[in-house]
Amino acid sequence: MARLRQPEPVFPGIVGYEDTVVPQIVNAILSRHNFILLGLRGQAKSRILRALTSLLDPHLPYIAGCEIHDNPYVPLCRHCHEQLAKHGDQTPIAYLAPDHRYVEKLATPDVTIADLIGDIDPIKAARGGHELSSELTVHYGLLPRANRGIFAVNELPDLAGKIQVGLFNIMQEGDVQIKGYPIRLPLDVALVFSANPEDYTARGKIITPLKDRIGSEIRTHYPSTIEEGIAITTQEAWVCRDGQHLELPKFVHEVIERIAFVAREDKKIDKRSGVSQRLPISAMENVVSNAERRALENNETTVVPRISDVYAAMPAITGKLELEYEGEMKGADHVARELIRTAVAKTYDEYFSGVDLRQVVQWFDLGGEIQLSGDAAAAEVIERLEGIQGLMEKTSALGISDKSPIEMQVSGAEFILEGLYAHKRIGRSEERVFTAGEKQPKKPERPFERDEPPMRQRRPYN
Ligand SMILES: [Zn+2]
Repeated sequence: MARLRQPEPVFPGIVGYEDTVVPQIVNAILSRHNFILLGLRGQAKSRILRALTSLLDPHLPYIAGCEIHDNPYVPLCRHCHEQLAKHGDQTPIAYLAPDHRYVEKLATPDVTIADLIGDIDPIKAARGGHELSSELTVHYGLLPRANRGIFAVNELPDLAGKIQVGLFNIMQEGDVQIKGYPIRLPLDVALVFSANPEDYTARGKIITPLKDRIGSEIRTHYPSTIEEGIAITTQEAWVCRDGQHLELPKFVHEVIERIAFVAREDKKIDKRSGVSQRLPISAMENVVSNAERRALENNETTVVPRISDVYAAMPAITGKLELEYEGEMKGADHVARELIRTAVAKTYDEYFSGVDLRQVVQWFDLGGEIQLSGDAAAAEVIERLEGIQGLMEKTSALGISDKSPIEMQVSGAEFILEGLYAHKRIGRSEERVFTAGEKQPKKPERPFERDEPPMRQRRPYN
């Protein structure tokens, strides 16, 4: 409540959820609900759950030595009761920081009641002369250890039914059975969960009474605009490195971000698993590294990524795509290359729709050729790029002029050529030699189409 009265965001560093996810989480907390975040991979679910600790008090007093951090005024465990009876107000107190009040568990089918809730320790019972079901003989699991804090279970549907029943009992009644012995544990824990929406709604994955006890079901989502994606990647990617001065052209960042946007729409990619925001983040790091490597090898002082660096970042991309059958047939490499090419084409259109580049295309049509190897120093290729009539001046649409660092000029010119290639207006070989485009053969008229207008207007780009 104190946080809401402040002008600052409730969860700093969470981008793009200000009007959607965050208000729902705040409502869930104000309602004192246990809640679940439903969303695909890489939608900051775990991050949000961890950020909940920022809402906790800086210090929480508990009875020193208590495994379940008992409240000195209302202890649960018998050990603490005995301590209080013996020492009264002199009972030693310790303090917990917010980070220590957060316990997280990734659900897998092999998680047991012992892991999560606890086990009965016969040795402890024999040594202390206690009953087996006495609280003094219980070896506590993760959940009791999260007492007076937050317990997060990621991928909840992967938890076995029996364990879900255990969780439900704790939430409902505050008691649980361990190996048939009823143990009373009225814990004070905020339970939060995350899950993939399809797994969660699949029949039989979550036992109904548990689902019923989860107060709020909150859907997360991917960034809705390229700008939001850029803001997240800028915040997360490791690009501000020591030594080399980095100048990241905006169009390169936009291409990287668009790869994820294009992939999320592509039918060759599995929609149920999604395309994580970690894809543009890792791709960005790889792109900067490839540019950094080129700059170091060529003794350049400014690191300026190019589109060729995006193609070189394939290792950061292919592993993050779950392919559908059609995609599997074509191979991850091919699919990723096509995604980059589409991202380049779309970004190119943002800057160059309505700009006349026929002169540049013509230069290639008349037999011009240029090799732009990904490792080539800017100084090596700039003169040859300047030899292509009409090319360099078009970089002004990207905010680049002949006063800009030559690394930036080369990156801008290369982007134009990559854009023309992405639209198949010019060609490019594996060795990165740009040439004239293949002449698109006129489609032969098929007999059954004869009654229709003879030539439909061809789309300007393919
Ligand atoms: Zn205790």
